[in-house]
Amino acid sequence: MEKIETNYGLMSIRNRILIFSVLVTFIPSFGMGWLLNSMIHATITEKTEQKLLYSANIIEREISLWFKQRNYDLHVFSNSFVISENLARHFSTQNNTEQETSPPSLYTKKIATYLNSVQKQFDDYTRLFVLDNEGIVVAASNSTDQVPPIQLPGNTTEQIAATNFFKGDVYLTEENSSPLILIGIPLFSKEYDTYVGFLAAEVRLQGLLPLLQAALFDTKEDLHICGALIRLKDGSHFLSTGHSADFVTPENVSNKTSQLFDSPPHLQNFFNYHGTRVVGIAIPLTTSGWGLLITENYVDVFARVTRSRNRNILIICSFALFIGLGAYLFAKQIITPLKALTNGALQVANGNLDVSLPLQKNDELGFATRMFNEMVTELKQSHAKLEQLATTDALTQLANRKQIMKSLLKHFENYQRYSTEFSILMIDIDHFKKINDTFGHLAGDAILIQIATIFKETLRNVDIAGRYGGEEFLVILAETSGEKAKHTAERIRQAVEQHIFTFEKYSLKISISVGVARILQNEKNENTLVSRADQALYLAKENGRNRVVYIADPPAAPLAG
Ligand code: GH3
Ligand code: MG
Ligand code: MG
Repeated sequence: MEKIETNYGLMSIRNRILIFSVLVTFIPSFGMGWLLNSMIHATITEKTEQKLLYSANIIEREISLWFKQRNYDLHVFSNSFVISENLARHFSTQNNTEQETSPPSLYTKKIATYLNSVQKQFDDYTRLFVLDNEGIVVAASNSTDQVPPIQLPGNTTEQIAATNFFKGDVYLTEENSSPLILIGIPLFSKEYDTYVGFLAAEVRLQGLLPLLQAALFDTKEDLHICGALIRLKDGSHFLSTGHSADFVTPENVSNKTSQLFDSPPHLQNFFNYHGTRVVGIAIPLTTSGWGLLITENYVDVFARVTRSRNRNILIICSFALFIGLGAYLFAKQIITPLKALTNGALQVANGNLDVSLPLQKNDELGFATRMFNEMVTELKQSHAKLEQLATTDALTQLANRKQIMKSLLKHFENYQRYSTEFSILMIDIDHFKKINDTFGHLAGDAILIQIATIFKETLRNVDIAGRYGGEEFLVILAETSGEKAKHTAERIRQAVEQHIFTFEKYSLKISISVGVARILQNEKNENTLVSRADQALYLAKENGRNRVVYIADPPAAPLAG
């Protein structure tokens, strides 16, 4: 029998059910999860952008107001009689002497004293100057000495023309790490139409920091929000609510920072100068050449998305596990009876018909199992029938010739192996032809059937009678010596002799002749035994029929040569 392959690997029904159910769980769940997450992500992005833009607008307005306030301060300072009076006198004396770098006059000293007093009252101002149109210092606070000329912003004239106010670039002094800026307003003289100089001030920009903080931290939760003011021309930070307010940021970072301002304000995703991933908006402030950068830690902003994603993954995985387990158990319910069916079929295929599968539930598989059991039972019955047909004589129901010869061979082999002796009878009905001729063939058949019944009744269970041919029978007498066999043969002969056979309305008497032979120690094969019984039968016929002949000591086989 060819070995049947029962390892189906990945393509087994169980694996296919498992894979299918897990895929069916994973694909839509992940699809929905992804969709949900993108929606949350988009919503958060929009909300954050709105929030940061709102803060940026407030800061921009506050900065503009702050500069207006400084402008106003300077106008208040400049309105002093001390400045206008002494400046006019200073210029007139200077015009008279025509000296460009004259030592501080009495007038300029008075102005300086005034500037000193003002500066002491206003902490934001580090220095106050009165300058001429060229930026030459006429008088300065905190200094009685000659102060080197002040570099005015390149577009001072334009700024003055537009706003009556100028402001310069942001810078740092070594002794003061706070960023500074030079601002100023024009000073007018009564004699001239145009301005004759400037009241300028060096202002600490640190004063802007509370404005930034106030605008950004109105809600306590935004702890990692950070606002920074940037110099647009080089991208360097000069004021920041974050940890690092470095005026000079690393060059590569500065370049990237500048680029952030290239596109219209929207929520951007980048790394800040600490290397932290942030989202933020970059807004150029209109007048100052500054940019405002507001950032928030990416992780904080999208924590909800991350949390929701992780939760989704956890839910989906437990769901898949649950479904997978369910699918496994479901598959097992199908596989177990299927396996039993396969095993049963395998056994049947191997010739074992003693298979009965345990009954399953009342479903398709249960039906298949019941059908299988019924099929095996029927197969067993027809198998038995076939065997009987193949081994039994149809008329007499005795063993047929093939079967009786097979039994004889078995006895012979048994004798060879265990020396279990046995004998055989060759029986032939006397003048049977005459019966056929007189009463018909059917009468002959009826007698054959009845004589078989006599054999069955006279013999032991261990003995076997078979139809050897026509009206000849071979009987094997197990564990029986020749003498005993002779007695049995005699008993049978008498039983037949005394029996009244019937056929239709007729009653008939018949006789048999029997040849007896026992197995010999040097028996060549089972056929030699049969031929000895045949010889005995021949003698019985010769000697008048209706008798038993047993040749106890057969003549020795003639010597070869
Ligand atoms: P003898 O005493 O010498 O044995 O004579 P006999 O007539 O019995 O022997 P013979 O061999 O001449 O005839 C045997 C007959 O048995 C011939 C045959 O028609 C008959 N016969 C063989 N098989 C059957 C059978 O199955 N049914 C019937 N009715 N007759 C059969
Ligand atoms: Mg015969
Ligand atoms: Mg005969």
